[in-house]
Amino acid sequence: MIDLQDIKTKLSLSTDIAIIAHRNPDGDALGSSIGLQLFLERINHQVKVVMPSDHPDTFHFLPRVDDIIVFDQEHDRAREALSKAKIIFCLDFNGLDRVDKLGITINESKAFKIMIDHHIDPEPFVDYAISDSGASSTCEMVYDFITDLGYNHLIDPILGECLMTGIITDTGSFKYNTNPHVYAIAGELKAKGVDDYMLNDQIYNTMTEKQLRLLGHCLSERFEVIPQYQAGIVAITKEDFKKFDIKRGDTEGIVNYILMMRGINVAAFIREQPTIVKLSLRSKGDISVQEITRNHFNGGGHKNASGGAAYAKLEDVVSRFKKVLPKYVKPLHSA
Ligand code: 5GP
Ligand code: MN
Repeated sequence: MIDLQDIKTKLSLSTDIAIIAHRNPDGDALGSSIGLQLFLERINHQVKVVMPSDHPDTFHFLPRVDDIIVFDQEHDRAREALSKAKIIFCLDFNGLDRVDKLGITINESKAFKIMIDHHIDPEPFVDYAISDSGASSTCEMVYDFITDLGYNHLIDPILGECLMTGIITDTGSFKYNTNPHVYAIAGELKAKGVDDYMLNDQIYNTMTEKQLRLLGHCLSERFEVIPQYQAGIVAITKEDFKKFDIKRGDTEGIVNYILMMRGINVAAFIREQPTIVKLSLRSKGDISVQEITRNHFNGGGHKNASGGAAYAKLEDVVSRFKKVLPKYVKPLHSA
């Protein structure tokens, strides 16, 4: 059995390391990857961060974000970084389908693979897995990883701000997914000088006019309420994508507005893309949207936040979602 002490030994000699996170990286994927990169560089490793696709503009404030190798844009550099690596860290994902074609490269690599992740149902593609679906975020787990290895003193405000970013985004600024430990970590990070006000401002108060108008359009023109199943759906079309010139990251967070309505406990944000229809689901309490995406939309995630996709027409995906709802949500006023 490999334990953390073995990992510490592996990390005691300078080596080439690659860090990979999931496609369409969010604050947690980016913050945990860059935070871990800064740490590993501080203990003398050569580190490359590789992601399947580019990040939203919102996160341009993160240090080193422009050094990330984006597989979509630089196939060869990404493959080279992975083939050179002796250790590969897989952060914030637990299934190879989350990293597109990089999954093949990971599978073929002879590197020692370490997963740090907090999604449900990890797949066994790594040599050492730190998997905890009770953790708020991968950033929380990276904080513990660094601390458990005995290097907490290397977490300075810059590294700490990367980790706090993922904690803030994956908990919606401590509104969900919390646990006593993550509050303790947030306190320690703040005591180290992390500027959480700056981070919240950068993350939440940097929408563009286009994004706000798109949000307005979604809520006024595309919002459907299904009171019996405490559900709300926003479905946007290819034409909406064109009209609002929607780019990566522009639709981030829209799904959360649906849950703001009184009586709504399940939210679906469904978008029609050129060849695929994608879903982002959110829920409150015991309703597991992870099961809905896993069973019906080829996806997964967390109990209260999950995603998936289907090769079908937008209206068919919306009707499939409505059809399966009764299996997961008790109707109101039932006998
Ligand atoms: P979002 O709706 O913000 O894209 O994703 C919500 C959560 O579901 C995230 O934790 C994300 O990792 C997970 N998720 C999103 N899309 C997929 C998918 O296609 N497959 C799986 N397994 N998880 C997904
Ligand atoms: Mn995460």
